[in-house]
Amino acid sequence: MPTILGIESTAHTFGVGIVKNGKVLANVKKTYTTEKGGIIPMEAAKHHFNNKNEIYFETLNNSGIEEKEIDAIAFSQGPGLAPCLLEGMKFAKELAKKLKKPLVPANHCVAHLEITKITKSKDPVLLYTSGANTQIIAYASGKYRIFGETLDVGVGNFIDTFARYAGIGFPGGPKIEKLALESGEKNYIELPYKVKGMDIALSGILTNLKQKLESKKYNLSDLCYSMQETVFAMLVETAERALAHTGKKELALGGGVACNSRLQEMCKIMCNERSQVRSGSSKSQTKEKTKFFCPERSLLVDNGAMIAFLGEIMFKSGIKEKNLEKIDIKPRQRTDEVEVKWR
Ligand code: AMP
Ligand code: MG
Repeated sequence: MPTILGIESTAHTFGVGIVKNGKVLANVKKTYTTEKGGIIPMEAAKHHFNNKNEIYFETLNNSGIEEKEIDAIAFSQGPGLAPCLLEGMKFAKELAKKLKKPLVPANHCVAHLEITKITKSKDPVLLYTSGANTQIIAYASGKYRIFGETLDVGVGNFIDTFARYAGIGFPGGPKIEKLALESGEKNYIELPYKVKGMDIALSGILTNLKQKLESKKYNLSDLCYSMQETVFAMLVETAERALAHTGKKELALGGGVACNSRLQEMCKIMCNERSQVRSGSSKSQTKEKTKFFCPERSLLVDNGAMIAFLGEIMFKSGIKEKNLEKIDIKPRQRTDEVEVKWR
C-alpha cells in the first residue's frame, strides 16, 4: 500500500495531507485571509512560502508516519493562481528531491470529485461550489467533464461580494447563512433567476441585490435568505439536470460553499424527490435512488488530503514522474483536459 503526501496551494489555502489505502492519516492547512477586498496572488504565495515547513511537519507529526515511508508527492498542478501554484510545486519538488520519490501532478477540481469517494460515492455528479469555481462535473466517456458552470463569477465570490456590499466582512458565506436563519419563507423577496441549460449566471443577481441594499428598503436578513433560496435553487436545478442527462444516481458536494447547511438540505430534498419519482414510475425501478454524499467540512474546503487521495489513485495506476524538470504548473487547466488513465 503506497503512502502518498498531497500538497494543495491553488489559491488562499496551503494544505498538506497524507493518505494511505484511501484513509486520511493527516490533513493540515492554513488559509491566507485579508481584512478587506479579495485575494492578492503574490501575498497568498508569500503566505504559502512562509507556512509550508510548519504545515508539512505538523502533518507528518499528526500522521504517525516517518518521512521515509512516503512513496510519492502529489501536488495541485492546476487550475489556480500561478504564484500560489508555483509555491506548491517548488515545495513538492524540494520534497521529491530530498526523499528521492516521484511526483504525481493532480488536478484540483478532479480531486474535489474523487475525495467524495471517501463517503462511499462511486460515480457521482459533483456540484463543486467554491470561491472561484462553480461547476457540475461528472465522469463520462473517458474524461471528467464539465456539464455546467457559472458563466461569470464563482458562487463563493458572488456571496463574498454581496457580503462586502452589505458591510458584513469576509468570508461572507457563514455570516449570510446565520443572517438568513433570522428570516423565512413569508419574507422571501423575489430576485432574478438565471439558469441557462446546465449553466448559471450570477452577476445580474449581484447588481439587483446591490440596488436593493442601496435602496435601504429591505431587511438584510430577508435579502440573505432570499439570496440563498434563489441561488441555491439554481444550483440544485442544474445539478438535477446533470443527473437526468448522465443517468447517474449519485450527487456529491465539494467546495467551501457546500459547507452551507441550507444548500446541503436542498440537495438532499432534490435527491429524495428524484428517488420518489423513479420508484413510482415502474416496479422494476423501485430500488433506483439518487444518493446524496457530502464529505466532512475539512474535506469540502481546499485541503491537501484530497490531493493525496487522488494522488494515491493515480500512483496506483502507474502515474508518477521522476524527472522533475518535465513537470510544470497548469494555471488554466480545464477539468476535461486531464488525461484519465486510472479509470
Ligand atoms: P473555497 O474556495 O472552496 O475554499 O470556498 C470559499 C468560499 O466558501 C468563500 O467564498 C466562502 O464565503 C464560502 N463559504 C464558506 N462557508 C460557507 C457557508 N456556510 N455558506 C456559504 N458559503 C460559504
Ligand atoms: Mg477548491
